[in-house]
Amino acid sequence: CGQCVQACPVGALTEKMAKGRGRTWEMKKVTTTCTYCGVGCQLELNVKDGKVVKVTSTHEIPGPNNGSLCVKGRFGYDFIDHSDRLRVPLIKEDGAFREASWDEALDLVARRFGEIKAQSGPDSLAFFASARCTNEENYLMNKFARAVIGTNNVDHCARLCHASTVAGLAASFGSGAMTNSIDELENTDVILVTGSNTTEMHPVFGSAIKRAVKSGRTKLIVVDGRKIDLVDHAEMWLRHKPGSDVAWLNGMMHVIIEENLYAGEYVAERTEGFEDLKRVVASYTPEKVEKISGIPKDDLIAAARLYAKAPAASIIYAMGVTQHINGTDGVKSVANLAMLCGNIGIESGGVNPLRGQNNVQGACDMGALPIVYSGYQAVASAEMRQKMAAAWAVPALPDKTGLTIVETINAAAEGKIRSLFIMGENPMMSDPDQHHVEEGLKKLEFLVVQDIFLTETAGLADVVLPAACFAEKEGTFTSTERRVQLLRKAVEAPGEARSDWEILCDLATRMGYPMKYACAEAIFAEVAAVTPSYAGMDYSRLVNGGLQWPCPSKDHPGTKFLHKDKFVRGKGLFAAIEWIPPAELPDGDYPFLLTTGRVLYHYHTGTMTRRSVGLNERYPECLVEISREDAEKLKIKNGEMVRVTSRRGTMEAKATVGDMTEAGVIFIPFHFSEAAVNKLTIAALDPVAKIPDLKVCAVKVEKAA
Ligand code: SF4
Repeated sequence: CGQCVQACPVGALTEKMAKGRGRTWEMKKVTTTCTYCGVGCQLELNVKDGKVVKVTSTHEIPGPNNGSLCVKGRFGYDFIDHSDRLRVPLIKEDGAFREASWDEALDLVARRFGEIKAQSGPDSLAFFASARCTNEENYLMNKFARAVIGTNNVDHCARLCHASTVAGLAASFGSGAMTNSIDELENTDVILVTGSNTTEMHPVFGSAIKRAVKSGRTKLIVVDGRKIDLVDHAEMWLRHKPGSDVAWLNGMMHVIIEENLYAGEYVAERTEGFEDLKRVVASYTPEKVEKISGIPKDDLIAAARLYAKAPAASIIYAMGVTQHINGTDGVKSVANLAMLCGNIGIESGGVNPLRGQNNVQGACDMGALPIVYSGYQAVASAEMRQKMAAAWAVPALPDKTGLTIVETINAAAEGKIRSLFIMGENPMMSDPDQHHVEEGLKKLEFLVVQDIFLTETAGLADVVLPAACFAEKEGTFTSTERRVQLLRKAVEAPGEARSDWEILCDLATRMGYPMKYACAEAIFAEVAAVTPSYAGMDYSRLVNGGLQWPCPSKDHPGTKFLHKDKFVRGKGLFAAIEWIPPAELPDGDYPFLLTTGRVLYHYHTGTMTRRSVGLNERYPECLVEISREDAEKLKIKNGEMVRVTSRRGTMEAKATVGDMTEAGVIFIPFHFSEAAVNKLTIAALDPVAKIPDLKVCAVKVEKAA
């Protein structure tokens, strides 16, 4: 992580990447927010001669990281100045791109969007916003789709990671966000981590967990199918089968209710639905749960007791819980367990979903979702539609529920969506069942992609618009703990690339809806005016460490933890949920269970980290994790090429043999386009959140010839 370099008081250790690129005193330091994961670390971009030459951080900068950074935040900055950056707009002609002026490209986009809208109606177009872009840009994308085009077909990749969190926690508590704050962890009595490889995905947060355990106060329970790093720090590790979350959570609640360890007074006063929950979990005996989940019954009982007896216990989870066909049920079950033990609405307790991308929380907050405007104000409400129509100066706004990401791709494949505008997303790599995604995107009559690199998705576009990256623009990101923090411009964008918000404004104006803002701050002022949870914020209040929403007025200090005294929805709602098996499980033809995820050195679809020399040196290629037992049976040695095949596709990569996964399970990261695991995954959806099951499908594994 380079923390040793940061700490070295005499300069004996220096960054290899910054060597020879300038003296410390020659560099201008620009404090900004990390562009990678949702922790929202504050860092300093060190700039010399218009280039970022180093990243540093100090304890003096207020922020969630107290001066720490992980390897991506500290060393993953060389993509900014990479020669592959898009510099001018591109228009495809006869199957090949040619360079174009902004006027030509935007006039073409405005004309084609206008024609398609006139011929087939506004719902024949769709828009993907981006968890990588700022709040201001996501707000404008939601406004562009709804006010300029007239459709609610706007979504972003939260659909693929935490849509089930938004749906599940909103149903249980009335708010779909992380309930507590990062710095509360160190006073927690028990931390239960499940479906989150925290030290790799959210490394600075992972360090906070390790510090809490090291203090001697906090006990750690890890429930994970893989032997992740946190297992070495845990009091208990329950190795469960992917897809069995609802079962083991019901099992823990069964034990807690049977042994009368639950918070009776809290349950009676602050919640509803307890009797239904009690009835359903009654059948989830530890013996039954052991059969479903593989967790030994005595371990389940011990973990239930440890969690229930803690004065304050925090549950931390991520995509291991959410990316299933019953992801929303899994999230509601997590909420059930926390409420049962009185852990919501208290300091150092809570349910804490860790957001994967830097601004996935913000993109959701800004209404880049098909059913809500910013601040989760429902599109279905006539009152909200009138409010937003008045704010945006349009006669009316659409009331039809929009399409989600996966539904948009399906509709494109069926010819129902004719045009798609993608800002800063790469569905060719991130979405399940890649062949189907490609089929959908190729069927579109007009695809526009706005990005910083010519991604796999941009390669299929009719028009590509070059965008500025995080270091080249102003704005705000909202971190996983609901903290809205400033992004500050450090360097100029390459060539003619422009900020996403400037491009959206220019396009809207060309389509007859004048959208003019002097700067990102002016957009944020509009966000605050129409979004109750952001109403008390402005840039001057965000300068020192940001503010956590809800922040309803100018004198409000922001909210450290949610649901104090009262849940946002009034009473917390228990959901009585039966476990259902994943859509596809191993069988005779496809005997292995494939689960997917990320690794420490890479990020999402790899467009940035795979262009970072240092990160690539550490993890240069896709590796298939396989257990020793299975490797021995299949005669596969460490480092040998294997072929992995599902009912949807096939891929090859090197095997890494070890004890991270148990027999019968393999793990493959999804960052590598040359070994794209999403060729294999299944597009089966959670019926509520429409999130695909990226964590379980059946495959066969063989030695590649
Ligand atoms: Fe950036 Fe996340 Fe690493 Fe912090 S933990 S430096 S936010 S990638």
